[in-house]
Order: sequence, then C-alpha cells, then structure tokens
Amino acid sequence: MTSEDGVLPIEPHKAFDTVLVLDFGSQYTHLITRRLRELNVYSEMLPCTQNVADLSWKPVGVILSGGPYSVYEDGAPHVDSEVFELGVPVLGICYGLQEIAWNQGKDVAAGDKREYGHAYLDVQRHPSSSPHVDKLFRGLEDDLEVWMSHGDKLSKLPPSFVTIATTSNAPFAGIAHLEKPWYGIQFHPEVTHTPRGTRLLKNFAVDICNAKRNWTMGKFVDQEVARIRTLVGEKGQVIGAVSGGVDSTVAAKLMQEAIGDRFHAVLVDNGVLRLNEAQIVKQTMTQHLGINLTVVDASELFLGRLKGVTDDPEKKRKIIGNTFIEVFQEKAKEIAAAAAGSPQEGDIEWLLQGTLYPDVIESISFKGPSATIKTHHNVGGLLEGMHLKLIEPLRELFKDEVRILGTKLGIPEDLVWRHPFPGPGIAIRILGEVTPQQVRIAREADYIFIEEIKKAGLYRKISQAFAALLPVKAVGVMGDNRVHDQVIALRAVETTDFMTADWYPFDGEFLKRVSRRIVNEVNGVCRVVYDITSKPPGTIEME
Ligand code: GLN
Repeated sequence: MTSEDGVLPIEPHKAFDTVLVLDFGSQYTHLITRRLRELNVYSEMLPCTQNVADLSWKPVGVILSGGPYSVYEDGAPHVDSEVFELGVPVLGICYGLQEIAWNQGKDVAAGDKREYGHAYLDVQRHPSSSPHVDKLFRGLEDDLEVWMSHGDKLSKLPPSFVTIATTSNAPFAGIAHLEKPWYGIQFHPEVTHTPRGTRLLKNFAVDICNAKRNWTMGKFVDQEVARIRTLVGEKGQVIGAVSGGVDSTVAAKLMQEAIGDRFHAVLVDNGVLRLNEAQIVKQTMTQHLGINLTVVDASELFLGRLKGVTDDPEKKRKIIGNTFIEVFQEKAKEIAAAAAGSPQEGDIEWLLQGTLYPDVIESISFKGPSATIKTHHNVGGLLEGMHLKLIEPLRELFKDEVRILGTKLGIPEDLVWRHPFPGPGIAIRILGEVTPQQVRIAREADYIFIEEIKKAGLYRKISQAFAALLPVKAVGVMGDNRVHDQVIALRAVETTDFMTADWYPFDGEFLKRVSRRIVNEVNGVCRVVYDITSKPPGTIEME
C-alpha cells in the first residue's frame, strides 16, 4: 500500500539500503550504527544470535561487532553461518574478525599480551589481486593511527584470505578474502581514537556494499508520516503525554503532521515544572506548532501528596510517577469519551511514546550467552490500565537525529537544544521536603542560573545545568541584619553520553555574577555553592 505521496509505509530497513550490525556485546557496537548513519547510510543493530532465515528484509552488508568473549571458549557466541551465504559483504571488527577466522578455519588463540590503546597500522596493498581486496583502505594513508582492545589473535590466516594490514603486535590486523567481499580488522574504526575510522566505514558501506546515502531526516519524515497514517488508519486517534522536552515535542509534531488533530497531546502540570514552563510549552505547542494540546493543572494534587515526604528520594519519584499515571489516564478517558461522539473520528486506540534508539539498543543488545533479553518498561504503568497499542515514531533514531528532525519540523532552536529535565521535575532538585515555598525558591534560582548560562553563550557547551535547593540553613549578613537562610547548589556538567560526566569549569567572574544575582533576587537564599563532583561517583541529579 502506498500513501498519496507515493512513499511506502514501511519500516526504514525495508525502505533504505541497510547495513546490519550484529552485536557480540561490545560497549562500542552502537557507535558503528551511529557512524554509518552520520554518513547517511541507514544501519540497524541486532543481537549476534539473530537467525538469518527469520529476517524479513535483506541487508546490503553485515558488520560483526567486537565483544568481550573469546571465540574458542565453550559457550562463546557465534554468528549464524548463513550470514556468509547472503551474498553480501561482511566486515568483522575485533571479535568479529576473530569470528570470521573461527568460522573459516578455527585459527584463533590467546595472544601472549593484551593490546589496549593506540597502535600504528601498516596497510598492505595488493594491486595484482582482485580489485575488491584493496577497497577497504582505499584513499587512506599507508600508516594509520588506530585503537586496539584485544587479547586474542589470529594464529594463522584463514584459507583464501590475504593480510591487508599489520601492527607490530598483530600480524593479522586486517584481512580480506581473495574472492568474496569479506574483511576483518582487529582495531575499532567506530571510536574517535581511530581518526580515519569513519572513512574506513564509508569505504565499506558505500564502495563495497554500494549502500545509497539517502538516510536523511527529510526522507525520514515522509517515510514515517506515511507509516503512521497507514498504521493508525483514516479515523484512528492517538493520545500522548508531552513534557516540553525535545523528544516528546518532536514525536508530537510528527504525529500532528501525520494525523492532525486526531493526535491528542496532554501536558500534566505537576507543580514541579520549571518557572513558567506550563505556559511556555502551551504557547509553543499550540500557537507555534499547531498541536492539539490539553493542559491539566494538577499541581495541587501533586504538591499535596508530596507534603511531609522528607526521608527517601525514591518515595518522591514514586508518588510523582503514580500520580502522573492517574491524572493522565483520567484525562485520556475524558478525551476518548468526547472523541467517540464525533462522527468523523474513531476510538482512541494508540498511545504515543517517544522511545529513542538507545533504549531499543539497550533492550536488544547482546548481554551474554545465557542472558535473557529484557524489554524496557517505562510505559508499563500507563499501558496496564488502558487498552492501548504503542506507537513509537522515534524508535529508530539517535538523539542527534531527533534534534535534526526537530529543526526540520520547525521546532524552535531553543527547544531542540534543551537540556534534559527529569520526569519528577525540580522535586528531586529540592533536597528534603517539597513545599510551594521551596518550589518557588528552586525555580527562581534555576531560572537565573540558566539565563546567565545562555547570556554567556555556554548553554550548548554544557550538557545539563540546574540549581538545587539544599535542606540546610546558613547564616549571612544582609543590609546589616543577620539572616538565617537557605543554600542553593549550582550543578553544571559536560558529558557526551550521560554515563560519565565532569563539572563545568566556569570562570570566577561568571560564578560571582550568578551568586550575586541569586542572593539578591531570590527571597530566602543567603548562600550559593558550586557542586564540583564528577560522575561517577556523583550522579548528575542530586536525588
Ligand atoms: N575478546 C576478544 C579479544 O580479547 C575480542 C575483544 C574485542 O572485540 N574488543 O581479543
């Protein structure tokens, strides 16, 4: 079935030339997929245990990732050997190289020393062999800096392979089959420590696999809009919660493009959003983006339930999470009842969720020979009480792709580059009891801090920043009077993946300015401190 604009309403792996990455459990596997997408080549990851016969689509090439196991161990994961019968190019990286060698002759053994870190690669060319042999390193220098992380090595070249690269410690750092487009490399081209790695991946995907470089967010919009229309049908209705964050806004805008007002967005004001946030989100969503939005002001209910909770931060999270589900479901029932009365519209059958590809990767990545595959449950609570099917238009996208998509859909820059904000809001940035008074202080201080960061042109350099309110009082002197007031802790971190993070080194003048403004402008604060804890051991949020 095609939509009116002729785009096929199917999954990306059927619409775009796709390089399949099979995951053997390396911490870098998702980076292979990302690098290929950055080259505008669509790529998807599946666990190494994927049965080739069960695939409903055919990749244009396959990459076998690295992994923590040794191919010769009992119980080590092995690829379905049908991969080599697909008739498409195969590239093995690290464990993947060893897996190719194991499959072709079992000549892999433990090396006498581990090789971890930078290494220098000598490329070997074979101009008189079949032309495909030299394609992997075409356009690259003869000596390359690469990143290694392995203990095992090939003890012998598998039959019909030649050596295309060596290092001082790895005589088979790169190999290629003489007749088939099969390659193996011992180093990791996907990490930034291999400066020419992206070029090598491009050689594989574009020159060897002949993948079209047509994966762009413009194409994705057409594709996804068509898919949503087919999935939902002509009368179907979708409901979804929005938070003002980039993911839910982009997902909502995509739904609006696809089905207009048959998508119902709900913003729950839980009383612990940022200063003026509910109004700002409402304005952007309705006036600027044309989204059919209902705002539910439930702040009193939330704050009432948070009253007196001082002991365990987890309790705050649970109260907010459960109250959110309750409020959202109630509103959804109302909207559904109203929609059911209208002759052009069907029942609400779908729930929108802004799941991103890293969540999908997390749930399907290979966790070990005996690990069971876990699914993510972040909407479990919502789905239980409502008989809805899940629609996840961003589930194939990485965060940077979501941002590009957001810009393409006309979402304001400010929102597209917004720092992450936790579901429980500033409730977990108010250490101790959450009261309306504490919310006011935390909000005002946070607003000033973020405003100064933006003025200094640092907002995009910093990954996440906020002001937290500490549950202590300190003495100060203001206007010749002794005061006993509260303490604000500023937190600002830089990170690429939010798994590790470092505090941002502001200059003294900046900190002076922020501190002066907060103490002067926020009633109830007489001191400001800066949190200089990295993650680990700290977390980014304070509760
Ligand atoms: N476990 C294998 C080795 O030590 C592969 C390592 C990897 O893929 N990074 O050689």
